[in-house]
Amino acid sequence: MSIPDTLYRGRFAPSPTGPLHFGSLVAAVGSFLEARTRGGEWLLRIEDVDAPRCSQAAADSILRTLEAFGFAWDGAVVWQSRRVAAYAAALEQLKQAGRVFPCACSRKELADSMLAPDGAALYPGTCRHGLPAGKVARAWRVRVDATRITFDDAVQGCIESDLAQEAGDFILLRADGLFAYQLAVVVDDAAAGITQVVRGADLLLSTPRQIFLQHCLGLPTPAYAHLPVVVNAAGEKLSKQTRAQRLDDARPGQALWAALDFLGQQPPPELRAASCDEIWRWARLHWRLDRVPRQRAAQRAEETP
Ligand code: GLU
Repeated sequence: MSIPDTLYRGRFAPSPTGPLHFGSLVAAVGSFLEARTRGGEWLLRIEDVDAPRCSQAAADSILRTLEAFGFAWDGAVVWQSRRVAAYAAALEQLKQAGRVFPCACSRKELADSMLAPDGAALYPGTCRHGLPAGKVARAWRVRVDATRITFDDAVQGCIESDLAQEAGDFILLRADGLFAYQLAVVVDDAAAGITQVVRGADLLLSTPRQIFLQHCLGLPTPAYAHLPVVVNAAGEKLSKQTRAQRLDDARPGQALWAALDFLGQQPPPELRAASCDEIWRWARLHWRLDRVPRQRAAQRAEETP
């Protein structure tokens, strides 16, 4: 057995807003195989920080499906809903450093703002230098001055972002009292000692924000690999909103084979009808990240019957 020279620690971090579908399987397979073939650990975190959109039933179903597909994770599952104190401590650190400000603006007041590439309103700066008289804080935002973030993505290549133009002063604590995904993910990845983030390219626009927060909090930046996202014939990402089909726990082999195929691994056709164990055995021997198509999105080659 070879001993890894540096520790590799990866993770899969599904949001329990619905059952796992083929798109989430692709992220799970890619992050798992990259971790295991590099002698690393693979952690599981349930991202239920956005409580109103999440459910325990969805989380239970995700765990069942991962087990049915033969995934084995290291250590205990981390639940974001139990980590609020850590997010509050990070926000407090940013307050002490003067990097965040309270914001009183309502969604309606921001409706006319310019839009960021992800469709969110770019903050026009209303509360940046203090709350307007008579207004109360609803949310907390991080101050983003002219900042260029550059990182080398193992699949997508060099990514550059002008954060002020692309994200603006983004929210860390929402008006409904919930911590934003961007803060939670940065705090959790650092607390778990994650060295490599392998996930879907739908999160590519979030990564510069997360790297920026790592810098603000004095946390290390992991390496990133963003896998192509699975889209349907209409070019929409598979999700609960686009009515993606849930994975069939009773027939994991076919979907697993299709995920490897989607990730450019060229699994042999005769393996298509093999058991999950056999497919994993093949995949662990043959997985290569450099075979993953350098695309941000792609359609699945064929639907399993
Ligand atoms: N929870 C996010 C999702 O399901 C993934 C976050 C991440 O991998 O950083 O889309």
